Amino acid sequence: MKILLIGPQGSGKSTQAELLAQHLGLSKISTGDIFRELSKENSEEGMRIRQIANEGKLVDDETTAKIVEQRLKKEDSSNGFILDGYPRNIRQKQIFDPGFDKVIFLKVSDEEVIKRLTARGRADDSPEAIKTRLNLYYGQTVPLLDDYKNKGLLIEIDGAGSIEDVQNEIRKAF
Ligand code: AMP
Repeated sequence: MKILLIGPQGSGKSTQAELLAQHLGLSKISTGDIFRELSKENSEEGMRIRQIANEGKLVDDETTAKIVEQRLKKEDSSNGFILDGYPRNIRQKQIFDPGFDKVIFLKVSDEEVIKRLTARGRADDSPEAIKTRLNLYYGQTVPLLDDYKNKGLLIEIDGAGSIEDVQNEIRKAF
């Protein structure tokens, strides 16, 4: 089974993807994790990605799509996977579409997102970067959600509860 977990920054998608992956025995693949690893490299690409991530911007669609396509060819994804963070917009889906069976959307308000991210304190959680990511989310990711909704793939989950409650809601949806 191929599952996409999607939601705004701070919606808990990474934590929920991890728990669901353990439950279903699937591998969890996160583009955020992949880019954080790449950004540690002192190569030109590493430095470019580091700057983009710190500003809260998106890595270009071609590079992102290529990385994900390569990653999903690995043996650990042959039975399916839980993808956290890709696609983030319609263009990425057009370049490479993993062909999901289900799309789980974690819905969390802006207020809650800002509260959680301020507490998280990651390097790319500056107030400016948070604002940029929220703008990108509404401008690019929400239209993608509408697309999945129209295709009948979208499962909407209220992401405001505790980690356990949200995970139970997700599992019930299967
Ligand atoms: P995340 O952990 O999902 O919040 O991702 C952290 C950062 O990695 C983002 O702010 C982007 O800079 C980059 N990133 C992750 N996924 C994507 C994607 N699908 N397209 C472009 N950039 C991405």
